[in-house]
Amino acid sequence: MLTHIIGIDLGTTNSCVALVDKEGPRVLSGAGDKRTVPSVVALTAEGKCIAGSAAHEQAITNPENTFYSFKRLIGRRWNSRDTQEFADKVAFNVSASDSNAVEIDFGGKKVPVVQISAMLLEELKSLAEEALGEDVEYAVVTVPAHFNDRQRQATRDAAKIAGLTVVRIINEPTAAALAYGFGKKLGQRVAIYDIGGGTFDISLLDISDGVFEVLATAGDANLGGDDFDHRIVDWIFEEIEKTHGVDLRAQRDLKPRIKQAAEKMKVELTGKSESNLSLPYLAKKEDGTFINVDLRLNREKLSELVEDLVHKTIEICQKALDAADIQGDSIDQVILIGGMSRMLTIQAAVEDFFGVPPSKAVHPDEAVACGAAVQGYMLKEGELDTLLLDVTPQHLGLVVTGNKFETVIEKDTTVPARSRKIFTTTRDNQESLKFQIAQSSDLSFDEFESLGEFLLPDLKSLPAGTVKIEVVFEVDTDGIVQVSATDKETEKVQNIEISGPGEMEEHAVEQIREHNRTIQGIPVVNAAGEVVTETPLEPDVTPEEPLDTGASSEQPDVAEKSSGVDEVSEAEDSTSDPGPAEDIEAQP
Ligand code: AMP
Repeated sequence: MLTHIIGIDLGTTNSCVALVDKEGPRVLSGAGDKRTVPSVVALTAEGKCIAGSAAHEQAITNPENTFYSFKRLIGRRWNSRDTQEFADKVAFNVSASDSNAVEIDFGGKKVPVVQISAMLLEELKSLAEEALGEDVEYAVVTVPAHFNDRQRQATRDAAKIAGLTVVRIINEPTAAALAYGFGKKLGQRVAIYDIGGGTFDISLLDISDGVFEVLATAGDANLGGDDFDHRIVDWIFEEIEKTHGVDLRAQRDLKPRIKQAAEKMKVELTGKSESNLSLPYLAKKEDGTFINVDLRLNREKLSELVEDLVHKTIEICQKALDAADIQGDSIDQVILIGGMSRMLTIQAAVEDFFGVPPSKAVHPDEAVACGAAVQGYMLKEGELDTLLLDVTPQHLGLVVTGNKFETVIEKDTTVPARSRKIFTTTRDNQESLKFQIAQSSDLSFDEFESLGEFLLPDLKSLPAGTVKIEVVFEVDTDGIVQVSATDKETEKVQNIEISGPGEMEEHAVEQIREHNRTIQGIPVVNAAGEVVTETPLEPDVTPEEPLDTGASSEQPDVAEKSSGVDEVSEAEDSTSDPGPAEDIEAQP
């Protein structure tokens, strides 16, 4: 039997660990009013690796070596628009790996994002162990509902590096719904509006007799508290320019200080109608005098600065309602979670949209970890009275001729899900087929993101359109995708788990673990200052296995829009070349 299964909310800004046992839920990652842990990892001036509160404290004094919001990078490709925007905003350096994944400059060494994430998870694991007085191995880890396959897998890899076995990955809003409804005899339709530091998600669920059925989810991977802060940051820079005639935007080392000040103002404006900012000696002018900043921001101005961001979340709520084919007034309860949901402008907008005041039944910072812990408890105890039915966050399918996306499993399909479709060749005597697996969040924009590719070789020489390839997509309860293709002529099967437990080889995990223990050959200490390992080893920073689980390094993150040309591509002469991924079409 499994020992404890902890619940981990691995947040963009803050993280939280909880456990549910016979006595009920409890938070393990802190006590009193400090029950969450800043999702920050840092390298101290002495070369020590720290995580959590201690790391957060050095953000201003050592900005280049303090790493925050890295959840926004996990499982992402370097050349995605979101990565580029992120890189511009932070004080630490990020760059591309050989496989087009993202690496972080960690004290002069480039390390993959999963490795930084693992350092935080190690800290969370050790806090849980401290609280329980025993080793912890198993965890349910939450991810934003819209996280794609690569992001989910990268999260699982990070946990693996941290020495945790992830028994289930669940979506953050679904976890919050579990925390809200577990053990109660409810019959309600609820909306979970989740806005944290980096992401926004909305999930609509029916809760009835212990069945938690997700009807639809929608979200934005790049819409959260950070964006609200950056609006204030921009305003501060503008005000400085107006008053002092100097543009300080290019001074990267000022960014953490101004960002922290902006966030403080935002948080203060939840409790007060006005907030003051004082940044003495912020920078030196060319004439040698100092720039001292004194500014005032009121609630109305803040609402104005972020109006479009709040509106964007409401538009996404409407999308979720449309996807579920229900009206806003059928929602009985709206549950707000995530730190940003405390903002009054947000609460008012949500109430206005759904027509019901938000419920205060769950703690906005702890509900997700508690819900994950509930799921852990259910798995451990074999709890059968509660059933969780989650859905696929995106449309999944293949790229076919004309660079078009052909859906195999639709968004919001209940998982586990399985679906098959027949595809065929577009050229006579085509020897092989290259499948490009992709996902799309919104088919109306005709945009999709490549998840990986695989090749089905040795096709029989037949005229175009006669070879029949059955492609089966499967999505498990963790949201991990598996695809197989069978040549109906030869019965030749090609399986591909785009990502999965086997994706990151054990030796690669061990290599990174070892490196994490020996950053720069210096013993690593945890947040409490305790040495984790005393034997400095020669670190080998670059893992042999690429850590980005996306199979393709050349594919752009968002493929070009379809040109709208006919689905049948032009024939190619080459017989050895498998042809472009889209040299394939679906059979009705
Ligand atoms: P989370 O990722 O859920 O921990 O949420 C973190 C975000 O919530 C950060 O952007 C915080 O600045 C924001 N936040 C926390 N408390 C408040 C508050 N009282 N008012 C406004 N924003 C807040």
